[in-house]
Amino acid sequence: MENPLPQRPYRRADHGAHVLVVEDVAVTREFLRRLLVDNGYRVSDAATGAEAIATLDEGLPDLVLLDLLLPDFHGLEVCRHLRSLEGGEDVPVLVITMDERPESHAEAVQAGVDDFLRKPLLPTELRTRVRSLIRLRHLRTELRRDTEAILTLQARKDELLQFVVHDLKNMLGTLLASVDLLGEGASPTEKRQRCRIEGTAKSMLGMVQNMLDLSIHEQAGLVPQPERISFATWIEQIRPELECITLRRNQFLELNVHPDLEVEADPQLFERVLFNLLENASKFGPKESTVRFQAEPLGSLVRFQVTDEGEGIPADMKDRIFDRFIRVDAHSSAHAGRGLGLAFCHLVTNLHGGRIWVEDHVPKGSRFLIELPLRFWELED
Ligand code: ADP
Repeated sequence: MENPLPQRPYRRADHGAHVLVVEDVAVTREFLRRLLVDNGYRVSDAATGAEAIATLDEGLPDLVLLDLLLPDFHGLEVCRHLRSLEGGEDVPVLVITMDERPESHAEAVQAGVDDFLRKPLLPTELRTRVRSLIRLRHLRTELRRDTEAILTLQARKDELLQFVVHDLKNMLGTLLASVDLLGEGASPTEKRQRCRIEGTAKSMLGMVQNMLDLSIHEQAGLVPQPERISFATWIEQIRPELECITLRRNQFLELNVHPDLEVEADPQLFERVLFNLLENASKFGPKESTVRFQAEPLGSLVRFQVTDEGEGIPADMKDRIFDRFIRVDAHSSAHAGRGLGLAFCHLVTNLHGGRIWVEDHVPKGSRFLIELPLRFWELED
């Protein structure tokens, strides 16, 4: 029966690949050359180390077959030279040797050799090994190209993110300044409306800043700028903004801060940690409930707690919610959010040498706890 498929001559992927043979014994060199040419490879050869290096400097082959005992210097020098050239780390090196000692093999591997072939050479074994190593060469090159393409894309994406974030920050800054000009608001309703606008703009700003800081940390590492601050004074300064968070949902904010607590930390980063935790407590707590913040010394530690009266967090999610993009009910649109706030809190706490976790609040709700060691936070005598 006639074969319906078109008949094309089979062409191997390694056909025409360039092999450099480095071998000082003329008979062996000629044997290798003939065998490789007969199998469709392009072959250059070198009888000394110096010749091999000169050939490599002219252009990289797809594979080097290397004898180690050369008249001018040791064959591994050729391998080391190859590895020092741009793109040279992708070219496989197959050593042809009679030396079976493990220490010689270890030294060769250290110099960048990929594989060994024992003398006397068997043509079938040589062909198989050459073909596999040339495939390895192509895979390495492809991998490098793909990695570079991914890194370029990632850099472009980060750049775009930073432009967008920068512009959003400016716009939200203008919006907040305008809200400030409106004044406090005469009636309780006006005051609540003002808080609603201000709070929403601040939440957006917080989200944008979380994104920015997490991306900066990924690229270069976020570096806290610690200052010694009196915790009670600091909390009093930001109290109106904290109250704004809970006022939006008619909730009550209870602040309970030890009067002598002095802290050494980055105030800007910690202000946002506090905002993220209070925002969540308010967002996930019922209307007209109480959100509590407490800061106290605890032995050689300082402990913060943010407590709400919401639904709490399921046991199997308690660790996971500190990872990026994790939300307990990811499909719900009831609470806007992208799962970045707690990842940011986790990062900042870690950078200050502390830890953060969540527990159930009895009878209802969650309690987020942060503990920091005294080497970062100190108590007044
Ligand atoms: P976002 O709130 O922006 O989604 P977060 O990282 O702050 O991101 O929180 C991640 C998830 O953890 C939330 O989506 C929510 O499912 C859960 N969560 C956080 N805080 C609370 C809380 N106080 N009560 C209940 N669930 C919470």
